[in-house]
Amino acid sequence: MTCLKPEGTSPGAVGPDGLDFNPFDVMRPRAPTRTPADARNGARVRTNDVAPAGVYRPNDNILTPHMRSPDYVQMSTAAAITLGVMGGKMHRCACTRCLNLLLTYPEGCRANCAYCGLARHREAERDYADRNFIRVDWPAVPMAQIVDIVARDGADTPFHRMCISMITHPKSDRDTVTVLKNWTDRIAPETVPVSILSNPTTMTRQDVRTLRDLGADIFTVALDAATPELFDRTRGKGVQSPHSWAKYWEILHDARDIFGAQKFGAHIIVGMGETEHDVLSLVQRLVDLGGHSHMFCFFPEKGSLMDHLPATPRDQWRRVQLGRYLIDYCGARVDHMTFDDHGRVADFGLPPPELDAIIDSGIAFRTSGCPGKVAEDISACDRPYGDSPPSDIASYPFQPNKTDLRKIRRQLGAPKPPN
Ligand code: SF4
Repeated sequence: MTCLKPEGTSPGAVGPDGLDFNPFDVMRPRAPTRTPADARNGARVRTNDVAPAGVYRPNDNILTPHMRSPDYVQMSTAAAITLGVMGGKMHRCACTRCLNLLLTYPEGCRANCAYCGLARHREAERDYADRNFIRVDWPAVPMAQIVDIVARDGADTPFHRMCISMITHPKSDRDTVTVLKNWTDRIAPETVPVSILSNPTTMTRQDVRTLRDLGADIFTVALDAATPELFDRTRGKGVQSPHSWAKYWEILHDARDIFGAQKFGAHIIVGMGETEHDVLSLVQRLVDLGGHSHMFCFFPEKGSLMDHLPATPRDQWRRVQLGRYLIDYCGARVDHMTFDDHGRVADFGLPPPELDAIIDSGIAFRTSGCPGKVAEDISACDRPYGDSPPSDIASYPFQPNKTDLRKIRRQLGAPKPPN
């Protein structure tokens, strides 16, 4: 093959020091600062105790109402537009196919992950329900209203999947069960299957089994960091956060045993300081277990402990997107690929015509996640502009067209061969 740039830098690279990847030493989070006592644990919202009235749109200039799961959940702006509880348009997308729900409490998530807009250290500056997460606002909506709309629409619903995102909160396990039950009591799993984006830190094997028994279809674990060292730096002791790599893998193995092959997976963020070899080795480990990986391109989320750091250069991201797709869906293996001294993919190990056909199909560059109703390798969870601005798309929330594919090929360093 192929394609790739042999040096540490490339003419089009926009990464740190002209590199086309984000190195470990550059990607250091800031240390979290101490929160004043009167802002801790959602104190402002609990003290003011303003009653919610229907849909709440994040607004930092008013008193945030006191909203709690399971009665209230937050949802992505794309999901709120698609559900019809909020107006708006999305660049080149008519709707999203995944109804992403996020548990909500005034105390918010008690973890402190360095890349995350929901992290605990933000409580000094912004109430939980007003925080940005994967680049967008998350309106809060009564759960009963959501179920009414989706049950009413039946087979005509635009959603191909619903996903409950747990957070790190003492009530999150119990409330996830209630939200799931409220949903499955009225909406058949064949109409809209449910995924769980879990919070392993507070979970047991029995919790995983309960969610499967109540009708959840897919169980995912947000590993996010690709190596134990990075995990600890961004989600563990490095940022005064409670998560551990070992506990995440314990629940991931439970999910494999209980949900079964092709019904579990892990989220991975690319470009936080791991090498391409690290991340593709993790993808291979997940596939060898029978699962899938769902990838996110690192973006410096405003207000997070990594908001001063560079987004993942597109060159690195495209190589990893393509490598992940080959391993997850095309039978390729990481040990058949070759990597350079920086751990970057130097050769995908496939004959050029085969690789060209896979690049040209464009699916590898779409948002990855749990499948919808189109194909196993097309994610319902399209997360429009969750990891990049529309002007420089990382994960395509739609099928890339010819112009998009020309750009992708330039970013891969694989210009289209002459016919
Ligand atoms: S556990 Fe999840 S929601 Fe909470 S800070 Fe970490 S990444 Fe964000």
